[in-house]
Amino acid sequence: MKRTAIQLADGRELIYFDERDDAVRDEIDRRDLPTQPPAAELRYDPLVDEWVAMAAHRQARTFLPAAGDCPLDPSSAERSTEIPAYDYDVVVFENRFPSFNYPAPVDPLADPTPLSPARPAIGRCEVVCFTPDHNASFASLSPERVRTVMAALADRTAELSALPEVEHVFCFENRGEEIGVTLHHPHGQIYAYPFVPPRTLTMLRAARRYADGTGGVLGADILAAERAAEVRVVTANEHWTAYVPAAARWPFEVHVVPHRHVLNLPGLTDAEVAAFGPVYLDLLRRCDALFNAPLPYISAWHQAPVRHPDRDLAYLHLQLTSPRRAAAKLKYLAGSESAMGAFVNDVRPEHAAALLREVKR
Ligand SMILES: [Zn+2]
Repeated sequence: MKRTAIQLADGRELIYFDERDDAVRDEIDRRDLPTQPPAAELRYDPLVDEWVAMAAHRQARTFLPAAGDCPLDPSSAERSTEIPAYDYDVVVFENRFPSFNYPAPVDPLADPTPLSPARPAIGRCEVVCFTPDHNASFASLSPERVRTVMAALADRTAELSALPEVEHVFCFENRGEEIGVTLHHPHGQIYAYPFVPPRTLTMLRAARRYADGTGGVLGADILAAERAAEVRVVTANEHWTAYVPAAARWPFEVHVVPHRHVLNLPGLTDAEVAAFGPVYLDLLRRCDALFNAPLPYISAWHQAPVRHPDRDLAYLHLQLTSPRRAAAKLKYLAGSESAMGAFVNDVRPEHAAALLREVKR
């Protein structure tokens, strides 16, 4: 694989991850782009001890453009896109409409109240294009391309973790308008947060409690228990198991977990990376076959935070969740979920796993 970093016209970084070692990436971005927005603002919510990003400039971001105007296509003689090259394998670049960006703005922020301090939302938001093919999907990628995507995500995790302000790197894919996707071109995103996100903290607290009580690694013991129970396992190979968790929150929720305790994507061996694609592609193809239509989903990599004291208790895994509960029905986060954080799932996890196992692909 060959990695080539360039700068876009407004100074943002773009990195090509090419499967051919002799790829030459010397195209220049000739667009006339406005300067980058200042960093968004982070405000502390003292009521629940969490940070909230205010990124008003994102209201102006590109929203469901016509296929001919897609900014994630390769450039052509007629049209310049975000990617200057006329073709690519996998490309990562800084989001033009970031929730977190770098470096800091010069203006100091005023605190809205003494209890709610504000600070600049320093960090990075990146876009990951999986393929130049506008009409593809992650499920249609080859296992080789999945390896390239994984190499790109591991590269970004390592590099972004080295930024002094970054506390956590989150790689994810939103798929489908039902999820709020604003660009149809198959792509993922990376958020490098200047804090450890709430869900990561919750998982670390649970892992710490479990380690103190049993001496075990929670992620490893859950995986062993699910593999022993079998009833919620969807698919597996030598290095990975995909299962519906016993207490799934979503109608369709699957965790794809490495058999070895690994903290983050850079920690995977070549064999583990190579084995991920076949299991994940099998899962995605089952998902799309469920309702004979592309399943809307959020695919989220849970990694260890950069420097939390309990980071060694984290256990890398991918969490795929879909709000689709029937062919024409979506689960919405209503009163109990949105206001109380208490999920009610309409589909039994064992039933969801059986449907995914038995579906004709
Ligand atoms: Zn496109």
